[in-house]
Amino acid sequence: MNCLCELGLDRVLGARAGREPDHTAALARWTGRKVSAVAVGKSFKRTDFRISQPGTPVWGGAWVRTWIVALAITSMLVPAALPRALAAQTSRTRARSTGRRPVAPQETIKNVFWQPNDLQQGSPAFFTAELVRPARRVTATLAGKTMTFFHTKNPRIWYALAGADLETQPGSYDLEITATLLNGRVAHSTKKVDVAAGTFGTGDVNVPENYVQPNEQEQKQIASDQKLKDRAFGHDTPRPEWSGNFVPTVSTKPTPSFGESRLLNEERTSTHHGTDYPVPEGTPVVATNSGTVVLATALYYEGNCVIIDHGLKLFTIYMHLKQIDVHEGDKVDKGQRLGLSGATGRVTGPHVHLGVRWNGANLDPVKLLALTLPQVGERPATHRGHAARRSHRRR
Ligand SMILES: [Zn+2]
Repeated sequence: MNCLCELGLDRVLGARAGREPDHTAALARWTGRKVSAVAVGKSFKRTDFRISQPGTPVWGGAWVRTWIVALAITSMLVPAALPRALAAQTSRTRARSTGRRPVAPQETIKNVFWQPNDLQQGSPAFFTAELVRPARRVTATLAGKTMTFFHTKNPRIWYALAGADLETQPGSYDLEITATLLNGRVAHSTKKVDVAAGTFGTGDVNVPENYVQPNEQEQKQIASDQKLKDRAFGHDTPRPEWSGNFVPTVSTKPTPSFGESRLLNEERTSTHHGTDYPVPEGTPVVATNSGTVVLATALYYEGNCVIIDHGLKLFTIYMHLKQIDVHEGDKVDKGQRLGLSGATGRVTGPHVHLGVRWNGANLDPVKLLALTLPQVGERPATHRGHAARRSHRRR
């Protein structure tokens, strides 16, 4: 590693600081094409030494010589203060190197915005972060959940498709964005995000009693279903597999059923986590966007159920199907048929229940369909080839 030792400063400082190499290293931090020399003591100011090419230090010149002289003079003038100051600086630097990375200016994150502008409980949201420099990773936290951003061609523009859970308490939340730049520096920025209360209906539902008070054997199935669902929602695909707007799963108008509080058989209340589409049995049900099938099986409450992983912890769920046409592991395209609608599981009649989950949050499917989204998750042709072959083999 190149550091100020190569300037001969180790002799100047080492003599004062017990010749520990860390003391000089503490004064130098590489920032790609730049070396930042952080001086300590009251008479010093922060300055930068530019070098002509990465990895090829060009030392010397009037600036450096001035610095050596200035450091030497000051270290002689403040013999007692310097070692203490150096030790303090060293320990601070150590703390930073073991904990956080070097910090980039806050202005690095130029702009952060989202659609829709006004979020409510259960709103999906599409976030855009504009940076002044390319980054290698951008993340954010909102209401206790972490979202991972992705970029397309421009590594200065980053996106995240996330949202506020149905159960989020209405209020103002900090969206804390962290961007790790190509040079390893980290930029932080915070934005206020307001989540308003949603307006949700109530309803009475009558279903067979075994869906309200399941017997012991049925409870065992419910428990094993939960494990299957947990495994499906545990998938963490590192890239978005969706691309462009989400499309309706059936062409029928949805009922305003998301977030509805339902009283089942006048016995038990249940919150409705999705949107119901009333369609006759046998209606083709299609994928709202491209992704990977992570569950395709019969479950107790959900009936014949398909879950699609769209990447970066976003899933869509299709319930109560009469027939399932896809298999776990299949890559599906937007608009591809997943099966036929039916009335399996806990239902009062034939319909499709569409659910949206992001990172454990239940989001409003109708609002997801209303977002205007860029073309992002195009899969390479070979990927589809593999999926088609695997799908064929399983059938
Ligand atoms: Zn439903």
